[in-house]
Amino acid sequence: MMAMVMGMFEARSMRIGQTGGSGLMSREQVVGALGAVSGRHPLGWLAAQAEHGGESSTLAQLTAHLRTRLTAHSAHCATLPELTLAIYLRRPLPEQLRSLVAKHPRWDRERRRAAKLKVLITKEKEKGGEAEAARLQATHDEILTAARVRCEQEIMTTGRCPKCAGTGKMLRKGGDCAVCNGTGKVVPDMGIIERMAGVAAVRAVHQALDELESAATTFKRALRKRLEGEREQ
Ligand SMILES: [Zn+2]
Repeated sequence: MMAMVMGMFEARSMRIGQTGGSGLMSREQVVGALGAVSGRHPLGWLAAQAEHGGESSTLAQLTAHLRTRLTAHSAHCATLPELTLAIYLRRPLPEQLRSLVAKHPRWDRERRRAAKLKVLITKEKEKGGEAEAARLQATHDEILTAARVRCEQEIMTTGRCPKCAGTGKMLRKGGDCAVCNGTGKVVPDMGIIERMAGVAAVRAVHQALDELESAATTFKRALRKRLEGEREQ
């Protein structure tokens, strides 16, 4: 909780300490301020937590909020609330994840390793080594599954573009990375929303995202003010 609040502000500028004293705010003061401000800005508190690595219960509450907010547009796309949250957190959408994994250097390496096994499997089958072929096939599948999981986890937890490893530059050729347009980050693809749920849904999603962002900003401003008030007492 403390780490999250410190992450929301520049901790040093807020002078938050674990013990208080010498102009530092104590943990109790921070928790007290948080209790008061979050009660007045529940949505902003949820959104701010989500931005700073919120727990799954926080994300579930936000998804529920978005489900209510986007009911009118969810008829053809049941996962619209989840997709909207992914965009808010600057995470790739599930459809995008598959194509991003394919651009990850690790995936490329492991795919080559698996392809070599595939050659061996064919040879084994040709000479009637069914058992050995089956063993190799299992290894082959394991390699690809493990690589997919690792790549997906990395992309989802870092939000970094896998192609340029977050640098935004093409490693050898130079120039901007074409996958992330030089941002180094995963850029959520709104085209997916449009294809799944239509143009009106895209507008509604943008509105819902703006609301979350402004709620988070209002919450953080109120918390900062409250904490500054605490410090001056
Ligand atoms: Zn990139």
